[in-house]
Amino acid sequence: MPTYSYLCQHCAKEIEIFHSIIAEPVKVCPNCNQESLIKQIGNGALVSFKGSGFYETDYKRQPSKEK
Ligand SMILES: [Zn+2]
Repeated sequence: MPTYSYLCQHCAKEIEIFHSIIAEPVKVCPNCNQESLIKQIGNGALVSFKGSGFYETDYKRQPSKEK
């Protein structure tokens, strides 16, 4: 069963929830009981977005250092 990461916009708590892919998304934060949970899509969505700029900068700085 996949694990879904949720982030609460109310208390900024990250929560991992195991449930089926066909289950309804969890909305209520167990920490603060507010309907403020947003589902994080996969592991990479946010990370790759944040990381792409860094990667490009790093790539341009070292054009051919692989060999
Ligand atoms: Zn919360």
